[in-house]
Amino acid sequence: MKILFGILIGLAAVVVLFLAVVLIRTLRFKPRQQIEPLKEAETVDRERLVSALQTLIKFKTVSYMDSSLEDDGEFEGLVESLSGLYPYVTESCKLTRFEGRGLLYHWKGNGNGSPLVLMAHYDVVPVNAGGWSRPAFEGIVEDGVIWGRGTLDTKVTFSSIFYAADKLISEGFIPENDIYLAFSGSEEIAGVGASRIVDYFESQGIVPSMVLDEGGAVVENVFPGVSAPCGLVGIAEKGSANVKYTARSTGGHASAPKPHTPVGVLAQACVNIENKPFPFHISDPARKMFDTLGRHSSFAYRMIFANLWCFSPILDIMCKKSGGEFNALMRTTVAFTKMSGSTAENVIPPEATMVSNIRLNPYDTVETAVRRLKKAISNEAVEVSVINGMDPSRISVTDIPEWDKLSLAIRSTWDGAIVSPYLMVQCSDSRNYGRISDRVYRFSAMDLTAEERATIHGHDERLRVDVLCRAAEFFVRLIKMF
Ligand SMILES: [Zn+2]
Repeated sequence: MKILFGILIGLAAVVVLFLAVVLIRTLRFKPRQQIEPLKEAETVDRERLVSALQTLIKFKTVSYMDSSLEDDGEFEGLVESLSGLYPYVTESCKLTRFEGRGLLYHWKGNGNGSPLVLMAHYDVVPVNAGGWSRPAFEGIVEDGVIWGRGTLDTKVTFSSIFYAADKLISEGFIPENDIYLAFSGSEEIAGVGASRIVDYFESQGIVPSMVLDEGGAVVENVFPGVSAPCGLVGIAEKGSANVKYTARSTGGHASAPKPHTPVGVLAQACVNIENKPFPFHISDPARKMFDTLGRHSSFAYRMIFANLWCFSPILDIMCKKSGGEFNALMRTTVAFTKMSGSTAENVIPPEATMVSNIRLNPYDTVETAVRRLKKAISNEAVEVSVINGMDPSRISVTDIPEWDKLSLAIRSTWDGAIVSPYLMVQCSDSRNYGRISDRVYRFSAMDLTAEERATIHGHDERLRVDVLCRAAEFFVRLIKMF
């Protein structure tokens, strides 16, 4: 009896200690001091910004995998229009052109320190005109909103970078060190524009002080328990791969089938993979995001994020159940996208195939992911091959003055925004810069609603003029710091 009592007391003490540790960690998990925004206002020329973007939207710079569908005249037209739109940049910055429609403008600074690289792309994805409520290539402005393909992705930053540089040059501003404006016209088809520019930097021994490309934005209600606007800066991006699965048979009439046709074999493979998600793994960028935004979250979530040492399994279950963006932050994901079998209803297919799109968490590679898929399938009859793929990007550091400058430019443009690192689940041109830098950041300088974000690559892509002005202000502020 005495022993039992002793055990109970011991257990109770352990529970109390556990709760005390969890509670103390939660209470100490308070928001960190954010950088004080600059007081100085930047004024930008609204009319000029709008009319330049309208001009750029009108060029149908659509990238296609099948290059015979592309209209070179549209791309050339856009490039030619730049000298009229941004005369000071054209006059003062040397332009070098690269394969993949790469444009590199070199803006000389006073010193010989490492240069800043500002990136964007001026190609866009195709349009399904039927789904649009306004024409996609006319640059229509209505009630303070500009409509058109590319307004968000990424002619907004393309034109804002140009505008900021042009304005500052016209005012006699000379940057402390060189600045490169690096643009690609083939990003949407993973073309070589950006990679050729990086080849050039590499060959010249140029190592940037910071690289900024498209990525996160200023958004609300994306992180559990946080309602304040968050300026999300991607410090890494997931890898991606398309994987094909093939099963074969001797074919034949469907009236006397074997127990499994190739379609059934593949269906089983698909179920096996879906039932065995990749392991939960909090990567460095995700951990930094939790450590920043988690501190601003509601009490219950703060308790989880402050105590990942014991609550990771709960987070894992939540993610598996919910799927979606939060889950994508935590693991390599597999989405089955295509399946094909016989062309006739009553013929067993001699060959059936399916395809999955895979997004690789930073701890995975194309190779390790394929190995795991094969293990999940565990059927020699299913042939697994990689159609194409790229490993996750290098992870950038955040404990450098350049990160603070970027945060300051964000906080000064979007007052009250919490700046946080995050892991980008989409791919961008900036991954090429991992070769020469661990200071590559992904931030699209816009405040966007969920509805607006959904128009990227979709119908009715559009941009509020106020947001365009803020993008330009942001780049003016940022450039002044370099
Ligand atoms: Zn895009």
